[in-house]
Amino acid sequence: MGRLRYGPAGKPITYKGPMEGVPRYLKEIGLDALEYEAVRGVRISEEKARELGAEAESNGVLLSMHAPYYVNLSSPDSSVWEKSIRRLVESMIAAEWMGAYVVVVHTGYYKGNKSKEEAIKRAIDGYARVLEEAPGWVKRPSLSPELMGKTSQVGDIDEVIAICQQVDRCRPTVDWAHLYARSEGTAVRSVDEVIRVIEALEKNLGKEAVSPLHTHFSKIEYGKGGERMHHTLSEKGYGPEWDIVCKAYLETGIDGVIISESPILEKDALLMKEECEK
Ligand SMILES: [Zn+2]
Repeated sequence: MGRLRYGPAGKPITYKGPMEGVPRYLKEIGLDALEYEAVRGVRISEEKARELGAEAESNGVLLSMHAPYYVNLSSPDSSVWEKSIRRLVESMIAAEWMGAYVVVVHTGYYKGNKSKEEAIKRAIDGYARVLEEAPGWVKRPSLSPELMGKTSQVGDIDEVIAICQQVDRCRPTVDWAHLYARSEGTAVRSVDEVIRVIEALEKNLGKEAVSPLHTHFSKIEYGKGGERMHHTLSEKGYGPEWDIVCKAYLETGIDGVIISESPILEKDALLMKEECEK
């Protein structure tokens, strides 16, 4: 059986204290993953990042990093594109300092491109440039395009696969809530279907892509065009069902990292862990 790790996207809501104290707190409550949220910009100092990394290591917590939201690698505007690359290089550096194994990226938007293919091509060139411009000592983190929740955003499952096939040191981030919202509730409906997604990733990107598979989970509200907002697991009337995704992990036996993006972060991470270990 594979190993499943669970943790929050950012500082736990029940924790008050400095960031570097979070890994110890997570270990105490029974969690073993943490996504460091640099979504408003990479602001952590080298000293603090290394401290966080050492704490994560000694408490058995696997770190990932979420890159800034203000990134658009598909932008035809060269100044936006260049700035996006700079922000991702900064993210890769901070991720290396803290020992994060992936930098999760919202690739960008189709808007302004003549076709979806053109948007993907720009994104691939952008990711390649990030790797070129990152200093040579940045060795650990992979770039990780996220499966996005809106149909205006680059990153359906096939596009994430296509990008990772073309970019070195790339691994997918599958947000199951986004997959559900992007499809307006028609995806993530059965265990078999989730298994097919996992198998497609493994077949096209190799065993590394699912060792472990980096994922996000919460319930989500959608409308026309996809994602509206994330919800907690206990809220009725929203999907997808954690049960379905959990069973697919267990049946495929892959290793997985499950980051809770629920409004009650670590509480739902613990609930998912409890339900999946039953
Ligand atoms: Zn994200």
